[in-house]
Amino acid sequence: MKTIIEPFKIKSVEPIRFTTPEEREEVLRKGFYNLFLVRAEDVLIDLLTDSGTNAMSADQWAGMMRGDESYAGARSFYRFERKVRELTGFKHIIPTHQGRAAERILFSLTGGKGKVVPNNSHFDTTRANVEFSGAEAVDLPTAEGRDPELIADFKGNMDTGALETLIRKVGPGSIPLCMITVTNNSGGGQPVSLANIRETGAICKRHGIPLFLDACRFAENAYFIKMRERGYASVPVKEIVSEMFSLADGATMSAKKDAIVNMGGFLAMNDDALASGARNLLIVTEGFPTYGGLAGRDLEAIAQGLDEVLDERYLEYRIRSVAYLGERLAAAGVPILQPPGGHAVYLNASKFLPQITPDRYPGQSLVVELFRRGGIRSVEIGSVMFGRRGAGGEFIPARMELVRLAIPRRVYTQSHIDYVIEVVLECYENRARFPGYRIVEEPAMLRHFTAKFEPILR
Ligand SMILES: *Cc1c(COP(=O)(O)O)cnc(C)c1O
Repeated sequence: MKTIIEPFKIKSVEPIRFTTPEEREEVLRKGFYNLFLVRAEDVLIDLLTDSGTNAMSADQWAGMMRGDESYAGARSFYRFERKVRELTGFKHIIPTHQGRAAERILFSLTGGKGKVVPNNSHFDTTRANVEFSGAEAVDLPTAEGRDPELIADFKGNMDTGALETLIRKVGPGSIPLCMITVTNNSGGGQPVSLANIRETGAICKRHGIPLFLDACRFAENAYFIKMRERGYASVPVKEIVSEMFSLADGATMSAKKDAIVNMGGFLAMNDDALASGARNLLIVTEGFPTYGGLAGRDLEAIAQGLDEVLDERYLEYRIRSVAYLGERLAAAGVPILQPPGGHAVYLNASKFLPQITPDRYPGQSLVVELFRRGGIRSVEIGSVMFGRRGAGGEFIPARMELVRLAIPRRVYTQSHIDYVIEVVLECYENRARFPGYRIVEEPAMLRHFTAKFEPILR
């Protein structure tokens, strides 16, 4: 087979800035070794996130000029609504400024004290919105999904046995809705099978519980189904997407992922009463129901992006280019979370840097070295993000020490990725010398964004 190439050519370019090792050392020192505190222009290759970092197409930019900025009933809204309905089949389509706004509205209406919301794995904003409502967020990944080294097709699946047990334990009346996140972001960008969505839907239906998809990466998930699930190899991705949504009663979406835009989202559902409540909340906090916190031009770009993301050449390139990064690293012996996900490769920092104990943040050490040696920005997903202090002040580590290399859509070429591979391999060769870190200042909540670090030099 020939090389899978980027299915686009480049019309507009954005220069990236090269820095010297001395400059990067200064940037690290001034940013207190926290890459969230570093200016983007000091970064050469930015793999912090795939959210809102996408490159839009010529047709999307043309759509921006066609955007109808009327307050009510804008043409752009109707194009957006038609596109989302065609894709999802849901009756009510409500635009929001991003995914978490859809979550806030949904859980304000359905959550509350005493309620329990199951999910294959809550994304952090989803969990925060469930908990903010007073409800409890329960993650139900499968045993397969919790094993970082196991190579399996659908490690994002919901543990349906655990779901039944939960329903029996708390009663269906306490569960306002059940969610499935596709792909499973917190679980390493792993896909969920159609069989699993179908089975989860059937369990929910039996107990009268609505099923919602957290649909941020619906197209990447559908492509994995086409590649890996029996019977779908020759089914068009668009039909797989329709089948996924047909098994659910509603969805939340961050358009910053698979709508290939920089801002936007939506909430969609079939239930009339819930939709009416959602539109009322939308007007209070987001905007009138035909724009929901977005400009008309944003709605145009989303509608166009939702078309482009279903192009199978695009999806082949997208999934293949992430796998390429993962495969090359694994072949050189670099410990990664297997298999590579749809939007990111996760380095296993506790295996990469076994000499650094979790309380000295091996993930943070690796994040710093990737920047120091190559100007690459990544993100720690380990004890900096999820570590806690127990009642006696003792350190409680995260379940895993990971570093995520998230790949923005259509932004970097294969030679950028080859460069990333070279830098990771250079880090791997020199790993014995990397220091651990201590936190010298941290806020009360979400400390990874603003904490200040200092290397522990022997
Ligand atoms: C990004 C994301 C969200 C939240 O969307 P925002 O647009 O960032 O508010 C929710 N769920 C998942 C799975 C996500 O990846």
